[in-house]
Amino acid sequence: MAASAPVPYSERDRPVSPSEGGGQAGSAWVIASCRVRVLCACPVCALCVPDLWVVGQWLVMSSSSRLAPPWTRDPAFRGRVLVCDGAMGTMLHSAGVPLDHPVCELNLSQPRLVRDLHAAYLAAGADIVQTNTFDANRPRLTRAGLQDQVAEITIAGARLAREAVDESGRPALVAGSVGPVIGTAAPRIGEDTRAAMLAAQIAALADWVDVILLETFGDIDSLTQAVQVALTECDLPVFAQATFGDDGRTLRGEPPAAVAAAMSTLDVATVGVNCTVGPTALRGVVQQLAGACPLPVSVQPNAGVPRRLGRQLRYAHNTEYFAECARRFVADGATIVGGCCGTTPAHIRAVARAVAGLTPGRQLGPAGPATPQARPRPAVRAAPPPVSRREPVTWPHAGRFVILAGMPVPRVQDMTEFETKAGQLKSAGADLLAITNRDRPAVRINPVAAAAVLRERLGTEVLLQMEAADRSLAALEADLLGAYALGVQMVVCRSGIPRVAGNYPDPGSLWDVDAVRLISVLAGLNDGLDWRGVPTPDQTRFVIGASLDTSAADAGRELDRAEEKARAGAHFLLTDVIYDPDSSVRILSGLRDRGIDLPVIIALAPFDPPTAIAQHLHEFPEVSPPPPVLAALRGGEDVAHRIDPALETVHKLGGLASGVLIHAPAGPDERMARLLARIARSRPPGGAA
Ligand SMILES: [Zn+2]
Repeated sequence: MAASAPVPYSERDRPVSPSEGGGQAGSAWVIASCRVRVLCACPVCALCVPDLWVVGQWLVMSSSSRLAPPWTRDPAFRGRVLVCDGAMGTMLHSAGVPLDHPVCELNLSQPRLVRDLHAAYLAAGADIVQTNTFDANRPRLTRAGLQDQVAEITIAGARLAREAVDESGRPALVAGSVGPVIGTAAPRIGEDTRAAMLAAQIAALADWVDVILLETFGDIDSLTQAVQVALTECDLPVFAQATFGDDGRTLRGEPPAAVAAAMSTLDVATVGVNCTVGPTALRGVVQQLAGACPLPVSVQPNAGVPRRLGRQLRYAHNTEYFAECARRFVADGATIVGGCCGTTPAHIRAVARAVAGLTPGRQLGPAGPATPQARPRPAVRAAPPPVSRREPVTWPHAGRFVILAGMPVPRVQDMTEFETKAGQLKSAGADLLAITNRDRPAVRINPVAAAAVLRERLGTEVLLQMEAADRSLAALEADLLGAYALGVQMVVCRSGIPRVAGNYPDPGSLWDVDAVRLISVLAGLNDGLDWRGVPTPDQTRFVIGASLDTSAADAGRELDRAEEKARAGAHFLLTDVIYDPDSSVRILSGLRDRGIDLPVIIALAPFDPPTAIAQHLHEFPEVSPPPPVLAALRGGEDVAHRIDPALETVHKLGGLASGVLIHAPAGPDERMARLLARIARSRPPGGAA
């Protein structure tokens, strides 16, 4: 930071125009016990550090003087339709920013790119520019390791928009964009935590923007909570926008009239809609919002439906169509029109031309936010945490050592043989069946279907293993809900391995979900939340499993990972195939030392040929082949006599486990049934953990 005289940002960063009424200019800065900003005196630095309690000449304190809404101070905003800007995220992506990168981070790393985009929208005729801070909340930044930079990134984004407005010489409002707090790591964020995260972002925006724009909220409760946090956290007008699907309902399924009704009990300046769909689907939404409440309505549709072109998303070039839709939105009752994903400065230029001269049916309100005392109490609940209406899910076989028979996913459509074999294993003593998937790239039947068939025809509980690799979260969730509807409730979540099938492996394709994320998605469904954090109509009762690699070379890291999985919501652990019981004890007992008291199912594959064991130990990364196993391999183990050693292993590890999964050999083999029967006859006490 430069060591020159500090400059209060009211003078430096937010020039107060003579038209700004209320005597705010120059008097807004008093020494008061409220939010503190330490400002950098460097004129170009965007790295102001908020909330440091440092006393001295470097301190500037903002008062909480209430400002009249900016549109009442400037005739430029009165009596006309206001044009909001267009997409930020998709424009930055098309400028080369990868799709998995939090775009708000560019406020720090590529400020010029962001400022130029604001400038382009202002030049196109935007009256409102939205800060590049939509995703600047802690959970969304966590994936990029930027979770501690919420304030830094947010303030930088607000300053860039402010600078662009100042440089444009046009009267324009800076809207501080705030999106829903949705974790890439977990949909389940408690109400208080979420409020604190919203508050952190809004507080960082508050001193730099003209309005707080809450956008893309998928349900009334979460939008209500964000409005309440914004009203508490700052004195700025609040624009509240929900997002609606093609069915004209919020992601949670609520009609526009319900959103309008909820928002009109709160002290918001506007109610509106943005993102998810193009203009056509939003026509009815705007009409219903306008019909159900007296608030001014804002609408920012996407350009349309995205198409994937290589690694890029493409939207239709439809500026004239989009502008014509904007005119219709105004006729239907909208006061603010703009664009969301896929729209460009060309869209906004066309919209600005199309709505110039139109008089909106409703004006933005003349008054600023009411005083806290005058705010009506909201009639709707403030985003209550989805309360479990039923008992929490627990491991259903507590106190008993369970025996699972692992069946490979069938490859043929005729499942008669598969069913027959499963029936035999059940009769031999298996308490549960498990669908396993050890020969990945082969053509095979969907494991969910295989599990559902066994569940239905044999009436047995079936454990499903779900791999996240190469699948989108939405697809995984749909499959899992399908499995649940078919009676399959026990799911082991695995990250999976990169797809390698006669081509270069592609770690980049759809690799956004790992086991921990998948576990948290299932735990969310149990709590009544979908993967986006949007409440679902009903709750599930998934029994969630996580994998545990007992042959991991780095035991500490594997135990860290197990802790993460337990925190995410796992109910039990399933080990990798244990070939050497002695070395697996290291990690199994490590669980207890770490306080991870989940039931553990050990997996054994006693009928694997020595080549499969050698492959596991030598061809998988991060596996440490223990000397006894290597010795056994060198000696060429006798596959014929595997039952006794397997039983020995079960009893050796029985005290650390709550069950065993025996992988069945590929072909018909009566040894499997014999082994199951013997384990059933001499079951360890079970109930470990
Ligand atoms: Zn959007």
